[in-house]
Amino acid sequence: MLSIKSLEEIELMRESALIVSQTLGMLAKEIQPGVNTLHLDQLAENFIRDHQAEPGFLGLYDFPNTLCVSPNEQVVHGIPNKNPLVEGDILSVDCGVLKNGFYGDHAYTFQVGEVAEETQKLLEVTKKSLYIGIEAFCQGNRVGDLGHAIQSYSESFGYGVVRELVGHGLGKEMHEAPEIPNYGKRGRGKKFLNGMVIAIEPMINQGTKNIRHFNDGWTIKTADNLPSAHFEHNVALIDGKPQLLSTFNFIYEALGIKSDEEVPFKKVTL
Ligand code: MG
Ligand code: MG
Repeated sequence: MLSIKSLEEIELMRESALIVSQTLGMLAKEIQPGVNTLHLDQLAENFIRDHQAEPGFLGLYDFPNTLCVSPNEQVVHGIPNKNPLVEGDILSVDCGVLKNGFYGDHAYTFQVGEVAEETQKLLEVTKKSLYIGIEAFCQGNRVGDLGHAIQSYSESFGYGVVRELVGHGLGKEMHEAPEIPNYGKRGRGKKFLNGMVIAIEPMINQGTKNIRHFNDGWTIKTADNLPSAHFEHNVALIDGKPQLLSTFNFIYEALGIKSDEEVPFKKVTL
């Protein structure tokens, strides 16, 4: 069932999205060569609980941790462990929280020290594809328009768009209808309606779109072992336009990055 949120509910969801955004901002400074992802997981859990929220992934479908951490060729759903991060790695961190009965769900792919130029390009294009997807989340468009926008941009660089994993509606459940694929055909699928809140999350591979599953039942990696990137925002449709609930600004502040990419999707206060 597709759930339409009231403006009051969207304000509650903004709180959940803010906490996941702050959590990733806190982690941005900690992601360094030599640090292990189990440590990051503990920091994230403590931070979320200190903000009177619950980790959203811990125990969800029996997932064992607060963060999904997926380095390099891992696409998503990596489980935190004690292996130290290495200079030149990339690390996708996906984090969920539950507050006031609503979920936030947010992801960013971080660079660990200096990374190869072609990997930086993958990160840049994947993040740009997220904003292209957000722009397509507007009145008059359908799910297929959003997917088509992300797919055609990403594939124009020769990258692979993962098919098996998709974005989703978000609310009192972590995964609500409709599914939001990062590929699709224009004019197809469910119509976007005011009050929809969705998680848009392109997962883009440097090489093949094909994936493999680890034996741990969770981790997903690229079939050719080339790197994969993942960025995720929570977006509400208000007055026919997309409005960001999550923000990368805490990450940018921590890393000293200047960016105006979120400006068109900010809440307008009169
Ligand atoms: Mg996520
Ligand atoms: Mg998600």
